[in-house]
Amino acid sequence: MSERSNVRVAVRVRPMNQREKAKQSSCVISMNENKTILQSNAAVSPGKVQKGPTEFIFDHCFWSTDDSDPDNYAGQEEVFRTLGEGIIENTYQGYNVCIFAYGQTGSGKTYSMMGTDDEPGLIPRFCSALLNKESKGTVTVELSYMEIYNEKVRDLLKLKKSKTELSVREHNILGPYVEGLSQHAVSTWEDIKLLLVAGNKCRTTAATKMNEESSRSHAIFTLTITQIFHNQESGTSKELNSKFNLVDLAGSERASKSGAQGKRLVESGNINKSLTFLGRVISSLAEEKNRRQSYVSYRESVLTWLLKNSLGGNSKTVMLATISPADDNYGETHSTLVYAERAR
Ligand code: ADP
Ligand code: MG
Repeated sequence: MSERSNVRVAVRVRPMNQREKAKQSSCVISMNENKTILQSNAAVSPGKVQKGPTEFIFDHCFWSTDDSDPDNYAGQEEVFRTLGEGIIENTYQGYNVCIFAYGQTGSGKTYSMMGTDDEPGLIPRFCSALLNKESKGTVTVELSYMEIYNEKVRDLLKLKKSKTELSVREHNILGPYVEGLSQHAVSTWEDIKLLLVAGNKCRTTAATKMNEESSRSHAIFTLTITQIFHNQESGTSKELNSKFNLVDLAGSERASKSGAQGKRLVESGNINKSLTFLGRVISSLAEEKNRRQSYVSYRESVLTWLLKNSLGGNSKTVMLATISPADDNYGETHSTLVYAERAR
């Protein structure tokens, strides 16, 4: 990541899925370097006035649709190399890092973050790179994994007998933290994988019309890296801490489309609220670099409050917005692109 920018925003379009192929959906997305172009979907809303294509500018655009432009296909390795540039070094220099995946359910957030056994995503790639990095100090790495569901924090790796619902507190020097969140020492990718598999089993999911496996919670995976530098001559030592957060956000779809009612509607309200505040916080960080001041209220949602120390000041933020290429997702794709462009 370059020195000048602490916030980068990227967009990734996934391939058509079976359902979209079967329906012969048309592709409404095209990309040209750092520009993403959304065609209006006249076919889907025939009554509406035909709008021209809308263009959005991002730091990176990843074309992962196999059908129409195989030469430009950005696979997992390329996404990692592009987004990861400089980030491992930054972490070891003491920066806190946050990487977010934002988008409607089924657009590729988990695929991009976690990936599959054959096509590992950002989490396994970053973890391996972080663990393999040489440091002049003695390095220890601890992992925590939690989710925020309905503004409540749950430890996904809780030890037996510990509380299910945890509270967020704020230390006057160290900042916000989750009281009682379990920390697990790790030294290899295999250690991490075991914990991830266990944690993923605990994630809150509920059936919505969009996707049976739809995730209604934000999952925050954090590596805390501690380096201790010993000075042989003076016999003293210095400690440097950094946090590396990878966040798989809840689906960004609006409540109406997923047919939410009752409990689901409350969930959607909380999700919308936290995604809105996150967008504001990130765009205000992007504005700081343009020397425009704006007041940021991190405590408006649990997500932004918890990540306060990893979002402001000495930090690097990457937002990866994931979208579907199909005309029938036009509305959600449009709102994802608007959100992501605003964050920049
Ligand atoms: P989300 O987490 O946003 O709900 P998923 O990551 O589960 O969505 O993706 C939905 C489906 O699309 C999965 O089967 C996934 O493997 C596939 N998919 C998503 N993005 C890509 C991509 N870039 N390349 C190939 N397959 C993808
Ligand atoms: Mg998911």
